[in-house]
Amino acid sequence: MSEETASASGKATVDNGGATMHTIGVIMAERLYAGLIVDHKLSGELLSSPPASVKMDPDDENSMVEMPTEEVIGSICDLILHAAKGHEASITAVGVALPGLIRSGVVEEAPNLPQLKGARVEARISEALVGHGMTTRVNLVNDADAMAAGLASLHGKLDSFIRVWTIGTGIGYGTYPFAEGVWEGGHGVVTLDEKENYCGCGGRGHLEGIMGHRAMRLRFLDMEPDEVFAAANRKDPDPRCLEFKKLWHKALAAATCSSIHFSGAGRFFLTGYNVRFLDMNMLKDYLHQMVKMSPLQGYALEIVDDDKLTRVIGAAVAAEQSVGR
Ligand SMILES: [Zn+2]
Repeated sequence: MSEETASASGKATVDNGGATMHTIGVIMAERLYAGLIVDHKLSGELLSSPPASVKMDPDDENSMVEMPTEEVIGSICDLILHAAKGHEASITAVGVALPGLIRSGVVEEAPNLPQLKGARVEARISEALVGHGMTTRVNLVNDADAMAAGLASLHGKLDSFIRVWTIGTGIGYGTYPFAEGVWEGGHGVVTLDEKENYCGCGGRGHLEGIMGHRAMRLRFLDMEPDEVFAAANRKDPDPRCLEFKKLWHKALAAATCSSIHFSGAGRFFLTGYNVRFLDMNMLKDYLHQMVKMSPLQGYALEIVDDDKLTRVIGAAVAAEQSVGR
């Protein structure tokens, strides 16, 4: 852990006239999580749906795939109302983080949650909350951007530019601060090989088509991703698995390299449940081969836990900052 990580603490940068802001952050993982956030910290407990007492496979990020949109929205609303209990009137904003391409409160595309495509999630949650007597601003944000906002808050960097790769079922690319636009960095092209077509979006040569959990399962029909990396890391590595491990790292280096050449050097956080496969030395080695202009070599890479609370806080911070925009 770096010095900055250990010493910094989140500080509010939004001027709200000195009043304490109550917000709620909601995220989706293998289940839904929500919390009441006061001064960028969790107040009370982190709630989930289904509740923690219902056992689930922690590796299974796909359990929401089967849930119809109506039910997803209903569950999110119930969780928000639960988190708001007793503070309904003072909630300034609610931030909801979902995977996919999100614009103006609509999930325009979600390769890993296809049922949500086209859903006006922001408006529908807003309307449902009003139906329960709660009028507040709802802000829909991409979950990778929520992670970036959460890390910025946690590390006291609400005034700096942060990028984060979330390496899980899909590959998320989040940035902070919030900016209008779309950046599906996980679907950036990292290879011109015509056989590279495992991405859930259907695009050829995509980062997610190499690194995404689902794409890895499609590529290695006879092995789980954990087995592939275990075989690559053995003393006598399986050649096919070692080749793939190198490809996996080259792909991330290529995408990071593109980001550096588009937006400059800076700090990249790496998170998500498959960050466990990351060999930092291998990644740095490939990146070193790809970024040769010295003004662009001042980049930093840092692995951080895929902490659900960080994302919940990030969703809340994004919502807070959307007020007055
Ligand atoms: Zn893609």
